Amino acid sequence: MNVLVIGSGGREHMLVKKLKQSERVTNIFVAPGNAGMQSEATCVKIEIDAIEELVQFAKQAQIDWTIVGPELPLSQGIVDWFRAEDLKIFGPTKRAALIESSKDFSKNLMKKYQVPTAEFETFTDSVSAKAYIKEKGAPIVVKADGLAEGKGVVVAMTEQEAYQAVDEMLESNRFGDAGAQIVIEEFLLGKEFSLFAFVEGVAVYPMIPARDYKRAFDGDQGPNTGGMGAFAPVPDVSEADLKFAVDSVLKPVAKAMVEEGRAYTGVLYAGLIQTKDGIKVIEFNARFGDPETQVVLPLLENDLIDVIEAVAMGVDPELRWRDAYAVGTVVASSGYPQTYRNGLFVPELREIEDGYLIHAGTTLNSHSQLVSNGGRVLLVGSVQKSLMEANEKVYQYLKTIEKTENFFYRTDIGVV
Ligand code: ATP
Repeated sequence: MNVLVIGSGGREHMLVKKLKQSERVTNIFVAPGNAGMQSEATCVKIEIDAIEELVQFAKQAQIDWTIVGPELPLSQGIVDWFRAEDLKIFGPTKRAALIESSKDFSKNLMKKYQVPTAEFETFTDSVSAKAYIKEKGAPIVVKADGLAEGKGVVVAMTEQEAYQAVDEMLESNRFGDAGAQIVIEEFLLGKEFSLFAFVEGVAVYPMIPARDYKRAFDGDQGPNTGGMGAFAPVPDVSEADLKFAVDSVLKPVAKAMVEEGRAYTGVLYAGLIQTKDGIKVIEFNARFGDPETQVVLPLLENDLIDVIEAVAMGVDPELRWRDAYAVGTVVASSGYPQTYRNGLFVPELREIEDGYLIHAGTTLNSHSQLVSNGGRVLLVGSVQKSLMEANEKVYQYLKTIEKTENFFYRTDIGVV
């Protein structure tokens, strides 16, 4: 079987590694991929949003299944294009991907179907937005409606900060169309976790919960990033919490999408928070999360292609999970998530014992040397019997990598 993975980050490298374990998969292609994937798959130089080229490639290379990593092509309708050509692809249509690509849509869907989430209002003009902030007071959260690569959310601790966020989005057009409409919502306090599920219509097959670390520095200090590491499963998420998340969030939302004529196929990601009033939804994503995928998939015992085929046919994939914990720590370029340099030499990487090495922003320069090509460069992961052991293995390995000022990582991933 020939499989095409779309994307170039750590999540896609993990998908490649997982597909590599399948006896049914003979050829793996990645568009465009990164340097770390080159020994495991064939990297094809097509960008993630060059949809017509991807369709042509899938036909010509006789791809049996395509798996989409990032949100951008999903929001552009890649699934609709592939399906129109009778090509099998695992992910939501453009209409269904709106659950991630418009926060106004997902918040109104939750309101209509009584799925617990922060109280909110949507605005297109700054005067009424600011009046709402004045009425509600701080802390308060201002979000660009559309996709903004994780940068369109401002958790404002003061009213002034919230007004500034409104001005940037609605007056200065900081996020272009993605910020022409904004959602302002109640600030929620609690521990967050992510829960992915394979979904086909009303059928929902949950995975295990994961926790990612959004802030750049130890102790949850510094700016928000795409994620500096993750672990799974999460000991403080109880069976009852999971049952609530499945029965009162994921299942009703899958059913709501069918009722709205937007039936969902693919991985649905719920970003959840444990507040004093119970579990609430922070956001939905229409795909596997990054970096949580890098700690969830190593614990999945099933063959990923078997799972995808079963789900697509509406059959229970009977997910089986290793009785273990995974921890993954991101190595990022200094300066990330603000300005950083690309093209910096990545220190020599040894084979990793008892663990795995995932590439994200890496490429080969004209001398075939491994250099950085993005904010998040690598992820070092390990699966062990306990979280503590997994954490120890990851940091034992990281200590063996030559120290350089060009990169940094958090030292507290998996410490609970
Ligand atoms: P992602 O990059 O994860 O897709 P996003 O840009 O879609 O992010 P959200 O997930 O909605 O944005 O928010 C990013 C982070 O901001 C959340 O993980 C959470 O830490 C914080 N946040 C969002 N909404 C709230 C809220 N209502 N109360 C408190 N914190 C919040």
